[in-house]
Amino acid sequence: MHLKVSHIQHFSVGDGPGIRTTIFLKGCNLHCPWCHNPETISGEEQTLYYETMGRREVCGRKLSVEEILREVLMDRDFYTESGGGATISGGEALLQAEGVAILARSLKRENISVWLDTAGNVPWDAFERTGDWVDGYLYDYKAGTKEQYAGAIGGNLDLVGDNLRRLLAEGRRVRVRIPLIPGFNTDEASISLMCSNLRSLGAGMVDLLPFHRMGSNKYRALGLRYAYEKTPLLTEDEIRGIRQRYGTWFQTNVE
Ligand code: SF4
Repeated sequence: MHLKVSHIQHFSVGDGPGIRTTIFLKGCNLHCPWCHNPETISGEEQTLYYETMGRREVCGRKLSVEEILREVLMDRDFYTESGGGATISGGEALLQAEGVAILARSLKRENISVWLDTAGNVPWDAFERTGDWVDGYLYDYKAGTKEQYAGAIGGNLDLVGDNLRRLLAEGRRVRVRIPLIPGFNTDEASISLMCSNLRSLGAGMVDLLPFHRMGSNKYRALGLRYAYEKTPLLTEDEIRGIRQRYGTWFQTNVE
């Protein structure tokens, strides 16, 4: 079994507990205009050209489960020391559910913790096929209304909510994450709606992921326009303000 991989990042912190290796899979069924990993959206192989460095990079290798496993196992000692492991991310990892299930099972057989990073905009079947080998989920929740979600990024917020409710009802370990996107979901009405939706779905603590522009150079390298190229970052005060209004329910770091 092979998976379409964008890149593998070692020593990740913030993609689940401890020090982790994050496997970014290629292909996504959403098109968030602020996405900071635009090279993961298309499922096809792409070449990024970084003009200032004169560097060319091919993204979208097909790697076997054994090849990925070998790379993840290189850092086993760090996982043991830190309580970390592997995180399967994307793109939308669950678009490759069959391969993800085999990879996650192989990792579990090696006693490696497996977390899955998803936007949840996939049929429940994808969670069922992979869930036996997943220890925890990083689950993105991006908008307060289904119209806003569908209009801006092309997904189905009802489906995202239903999948989240089912995971929580099964007692799964889930860290919900809200990417804070200026001008999209940081106004008081959007934050209130996301909070009330998430509470009614049974979510616990929520991580806030403030917008950043670190993906700008990748848009240039792909020859794409980045709609958020000049969007100002949120200030510390704005982020603190959101946290204070909603209390300790909002965190800024993954445990
Ligand atoms: S769901 Fe994630 S990977 Fe997909 S477009 Fe949105 S931010 Fe990018």
